Amino acid sequence: MTYFLSTPIYYVNSTPHIGHAYTTCAADILVRHMAQRGEETFFLTGVDEHATKVFRVAEELGLAPQAYTDQIVGAWRDLPARLNAKPDFFIRTSDEGHKVFVREFLQKIYDNGDVYEDVYSGLYCVGCEEFKTEDSLVDGKCPIHDRVPEQIEEKNYFFRLSAYQDRLLAYYDAHPDWVLPDFRFNEARSFIAGGLQDFSISRAGQPWGIPLPWDESQVAYVWADALINYLSALTYARPGEDLRDTFWPGARHLMAKDIIRFHCVYWPAMLMAAGYELPQQIFVHGYLLLDDKKISKSLGNVVDPLDLIDIYGADPVRYWCARAVTFGQDGSASIDGIRERYERELGNDLGNLLSRTTAMIAKYLGGAIGPKEGVTGTNTTLANEVAVMRDGVLADLDRFDITSAVDKIWLVVRALNRYVTESAPWEMAKDETKAAALEGVLYDLADGLRLVAVALAAYLPETAPKILTALGQSDDLSFDRVAYGQLVAATGIEGAAPLFPRLETPDA
Ligand SMILES: [Zn+2]
Repeated sequence: MTYFLSTPIYYVNSTPHIGHAYTTCAADILVRHMAQRGEETFFLTGVDEHATKVFRVAEELGLAPQAYTDQIVGAWRDLPARLNAKPDFFIRTSDEGHKVFVREFLQKIYDNGDVYEDVYSGLYCVGCEEFKTEDSLVDGKCPIHDRVPEQIEEKNYFFRLSAYQDRLLAYYDAHPDWVLPDFRFNEARSFIAGGLQDFSISRAGQPWGIPLPWDESQVAYVWADALINYLSALTYARPGEDLRDTFWPGARHLMAKDIIRFHCVYWPAMLMAAGYELPQQIFVHGYLLLDDKKISKSLGNVVDPLDLIDIYGADPVRYWCARAVTFGQDGSASIDGIRERYERELGNDLGNLLSRTTAMIAKYLGGAIGPKEGVTGTNTTLANEVAVMRDGVLADLDRFDITSAVDKIWLVVRALNRYVTESAPWEMAKDETKAAALEGVLYDLADGLRLVAVALAAYLPETAPKILTALGQSDDLSFDRVAYGQLVAATGIEGAAPLFPRLETPDA
């Protein structure tokens, strides 16, 4: 089985913010981890260009929509790069390959009899890019965007979503893990159980979008176009190859909760209508809310939270994203929290542990460490802690729980720190009769750091190899190496430079 993970494609009506970074970070952590487990992975991200709001922004700027999106797409391509995320493909919905596939896909649904024509009159919120019912408005306004929706009356093509209610419910009931976390599964299922209305898959009178193959006077509604990217990308991401057979069976979608309905209701029904299997799983995460006051207070001129990457580096931001808030839940995180975690956890717990361990190996063992019969690899307590962590991390990340997994790895980091304090190698070094025991302790510390580096590699892709190099270990990141007692002999170990150097005060 392959592992294909997508982020949503992001609207390009403005530049990226921390919310987009959050999803992209999480996706990259999951994909890197699965690659460590030997899975064949594919990571897809990109941008949604055909929204009405994108068209409007371009208009306001006096640009043709394509010229506008060509200009702003750079900032979106930079997002994964700045986070040290490595997507296999970055899709744009204006790609020729996407347009061709969308037309084929919609034609299939049309040919299968699931599309009909009707005049629609309704209230459309451009912010949401969807029609609103009267009773979803507050004081006549969309409660999400605080604006009065536009009255639209036009001829549209409709998708018979209502015809899929029973099939969707049956699918949900047969696949209780299809949407995670559980409360999101229940939310989506009860939406379906509450009755489904057909939805318009086209827009008239808008020149920006993909023309419908059977009526070129209409363009595909932005969601009917956007959702299909998860399949279309596989048809042209690698020139000359169709990756659908390889990766679609392993498809998983990751997204924030605001677009759950499109992914958990509309998309599976569209796939059924077009004759595709549904993706393996969908994970819906909450919002990483920032305390705005603290942004200005502690970071002065930092306006764009992505500037955090320039201050702390990509690894600490990735780590903070995973740890600050339980993935899946909403939570608020303070900007000060990242500094705290940088100094206390990354700097002290992990960085100092490496500096001290390597310095002691240099000083007490002449820089040489390695397995020695009867002396090393005998710490059953540590071996057990590692085994528990390893099993826990595998189970957590199978369920997208990047927070719980890193918490478990950190328990081992803390255990190693306690082990240093309790065994006090600097005392042992004064007593010649304890030479073998000292070597055993330093072996355990080096081995612990080695396996922690491998376990953390998905979160800290820049830092993990530095730890392995400092300990003279191979840079092989296979997750099998997260096991006690695999440290190999190394010489020439020197006290390592700080992994996370102290920062100048950012608001200075
Ligand atoms: Zn709205």
